[in-house]
Amino acid sequence: MAKIQNDTRARMNLVADPYIRERLQDLTNLAYQLIDFLSDDPTATSDGKEAPDKIVLIARNMGPAELLEYDRERLCGLVLEEGSETAHATIVARALNIPLVGQVEGILNRAEPGDIIAVDAENGEVFLRPDSSFQQSFRGSIALMESRRAAYADTRHLPAVTANGQRIHLNLNAGLLLDLAHLEESGADGVGLYRTELPFMMQPRYPNFETQFDLYTDILEQAAGRPVVFRTLDIGGDKLLSTMPAIIEEENPALGWRALRIGLDMPHMLHDQLRALISAAQGRPLSIMFPMVTEVCEFDAARTVLDDVVAEIRAGGGAVPESLRVGAMLEVPALLFQLKPLLERVDFLSVGSNDLAQFIFASDRGSPRMNGRYDVLAPYFLKILRDIVQQSAAADVPVHLCGEMAGNTLEAMALIGLGFRSLSMRPGSVGPVRTMIRSLDTAALQKALVPALERSDHSLRSVLTEFAESTGVEISLRSVSRQYA
Ligand code: PEP
Ligand code: MG
Repeated sequence: MAKIQNDTRARMNLVADPYIRERLQDLTNLAYQLIDFLSDDPTATSDGKEAPDKIVLIARNMGPAELLEYDRERLCGLVLEEGSETAHATIVARALNIPLVGQVEGILNRAEPGDIIAVDAENGEVFLRPDSSFQQSFRGSIALMESRRAAYADTRHLPAVTANGQRIHLNLNAGLLLDLAHLEESGADGVGLYRTELPFMMQPRYPNFETQFDLYTDILEQAAGRPVVFRTLDIGGDKLLSTMPAIIEEENPALGWRALRIGLDMPHMLHDQLRALISAAQGRPLSIMFPMVTEVCEFDAARTVLDDVVAEIRAGGGAVPESLRVGAMLEVPALLFQLKPLLERVDFLSVGSNDLAQFIFASDRGSPRMNGRYDVLAPYFLKILRDIVQQSAAADVPVHLCGEMAGNTLEAMALIGLGFRSLSMRPGSVGPVRTMIRSLDTAALQKALVPALERSDHSLRSVLTEFAESTGVEISLRSVSRQYA
């Protein structure tokens, strides 16, 4: 198979017609898929040689489920021709601590199996076949980065309190058991978003009640009393379960049969998951939230399933959580116009800014072409977020934000300026965000931010950067293009 692929590739490379040459890419992808299928080992090499201990995977694009199939011990980098900052594969790569650089055009044609490649996800750069002196200085940069990480880890006992005394709650986004280890190491307050679908995506078949019960028990035990917010299954869109092929056929999956919509159409699935969560809590406090709520009546319907589960467990003599907090994710713009009745029903609200931005901007979060086109620091988007904070405060309902923007220091600063006091982010962001918070005066920030919200700019990124630089706020700058570190 590998030989046929190499021969065909050599012949097609000679063709001048750009259309035919482009098909070469499709052929290469297909050949690799076939080789993977035949060898049943996704890290096998196409030339039949034994794969090295450490591998960097190069692909046109990748879904989160596919990424989870690779051996995490060996996979030390991912380079995509496409990819985008808030795609779920990027989120999974971050959770696994795998450096990922996206939008590297033409890399599939240029790289050969066995090539040495250096992946710098912090700066969004990839170096193919670097010479030995470059490799040496790259190792030096890695060591420097590790020492920076260690310095952040040393701050884990410092309170996340701004220079003018505002306490900010910093939580982790998690989805795999290994993420829980970061609780201790980062000094986060708890888990603000546990994506329950990630472990489902790693299972060959749909996990039954017992499997889920064991998993949730493990998570709560590892969290050792720190609060964990479990989000019910958020599948569909780009998160597919191999056991649910029907979803694949949708033409517009991000707007299709997803998340709570599936849960309400298949209530036995939602019921089983809620029963496993409540049973695993064994009377301890528990927080659950529902993703992609579009209408208040969907929240009511989900709540009814939850109430039924609680009643059944109680009737059977089982323990129910001493406090059960139930929240909704705010990701669909329609919900912005139902905030009043929603806030009367929920114990907390969690803004999923990845999806909310995708729907507000009408811009596919997984599309490499759209990546970086609109900015979550656009004044009108920030005003929407401010409105959510103000309405939640008026209703006395805690509000959190758990999208990727919470983990970027400049965006996190803006969120705090808008009034957010609880953010949930990838583990590697907790240290930098805490450092930023400790150097920030929220009163000064508000003075700069509030009038700027009325501007009609594409983005307030430069206004906020200027504020940070002139007032000594420690932000780590990053562009919004292809840095997915
Ligand atoms: C979000 O949409 O912001 C979110 C946190 O959920 P996910 O990224 O898993 O869709
Ligand atoms: Mg979402």
